[in-house]
Amino acid sequence: MTTRRETQTRLDQLLKEIEHRNPAQPEFHQAAHEVLETLAPVVAARPEYAEPGLIERLVEPERQVMFRVPWQDDQGRVHVNRGFRVEFNSALGPYKGGLRFHPSVNLGVIKFLGFEQIFKNALTGLGIGGGKGGSDFDPHGRSDAEVMRFCQSFMTELYRHIGEHTDVPAGDIGVGGREIGYLFGQYRRITNRWEAGVLTGKGQGWGGSLIRPEATGYGNVLFAAAMLRERGEDLEGQTAVVSGSGNVAIYTIEKLAALGANAVTCSDSSGYVVDEKGIDLDLLKQIKEVERGRVDAYAERRGSSARFVPGGSVWDVPADIALPSATQNELDENDAATLIHNGVKAVSEGANMPATPEAVHLLQKAGVAFGPGKAANAGGVAVSALEMAQNHARTSWTAARVEEELTHIMNDIHTTCHETAERYDAPGDYVTGANIAGFERVADAMLAQGVI
Ligand code: GLU
Repeated sequence: MTTRRETQTRLDQLLKEIEHRNPAQPEFHQAAHEVLETLAPVVAARPEYAEPGLIERLVEPERQVMFRVPWQDDQGRVHVNRGFRVEFNSALGPYKGGLRFHPSVNLGVIKFLGFEQIFKNALTGLGIGGGKGGSDFDPHGRSDAEVMRFCQSFMTELYRHIGEHTDVPAGDIGVGGREIGYLFGQYRRITNRWEAGVLTGKGQGWGGSLIRPEATGYGNVLFAAAMLRERGEDLEGQTAVVSGSGNVAIYTIEKLAALGANAVTCSDSSGYVVDEKGIDLDLLKQIKEVERGRVDAYAERRGSSARFVPGGSVWDVPADIALPSATQNELDENDAATLIHNGVKAVSEGANMPATPEAVHLLQKAGVAFGPGKAANAGGVAVSALEMAQNHARTSWTAARVEEELTHIMNDIHTTCHETAERYDAPGDYVTGANIAGFERVADAMLAQGVI
């Protein structure tokens, strides 16, 4: 039997090959490191997982699509963006994962997101594979008509790669209800099919699921609550620091308030807001969802309890729990040290990979409960899978039913991660628990389905 150390040496070798074969993709390297660094115990314990080629197949996307997206702005100027869809793994179901429209998008970013998505989706226990896509298009400051033309051009290529049984995109940063509407319209027009299950995050009246917009944020708070419960605590009366001001952050703040906690911050790329009285959600929703404005407008209109801090780090604000809900690598080692110094008890990732590896290490060493995104933010994609189920049955569930399912799923994910970590001698280590539990489910399906 191979020892853990021998197995880790083999995995380290594979990581070197990944870096060599995928140059200039630092985010993908980081995501691969984070997973492969925790798999040695399970691969050493179960010889079938050491089978040559299994992990090598897992780190290579099944298919990667890149395409030109030309579109015209309101002045008639032509712009050329790049579109991506990385279909990473379909052992458990159709590829499933969001589309991100942001200037930082490149192949490496989409691959990191797609890779994470495989394990996240496996953890939900539902039948969904992993994929991700997007574009380096920046929707900020663009008119509705420009966003529509961009989405139509994007879908004019993407449609041939997706389908309810093949690949089911949804939203992510820069892609919300408006964009999903334009994308769905173009898909329907080109294919001449009413195929509701081809996209999730749709509008309520035309195949969308209740609670889908709320699901990622609500789910993350439920995961944080489960971690605290494990330590004999709850959210009641806790102060929370939340980053971001998009869909994930907004519904994180909403659920925190519902469970008796007080979220005192939100942020965007211009800086952060701290509001001693707790974030006023109606005002934040008005500014971000209706006016599509910046968070400094919140502080201006809120009155004396709130102030806007340009630049700066939201993690400087003292809190009991921290919920990073903006983007990758937004919480580094220094931020982690500040949070620890201020007595943080739990950090739960609403965004994908927001904490750097050094930050995660420091938080865990200090005994802070740390919920990795692939477990903690899986509520969004889980409700997407429930949307697919409703579409397939041509029905729609009540908000109460969807939320009940979401609560079960998040508690199950927490239990699975917790128990798996204990089984592999890493009690309380949700990173190891999430990676191994997700890996086991995908790896078993891949082994059963042969070398493909
Ligand atoms: N973009 C979300 C995520 O990172 C949701 C994906 C989906 O609903 O398919 O999980």
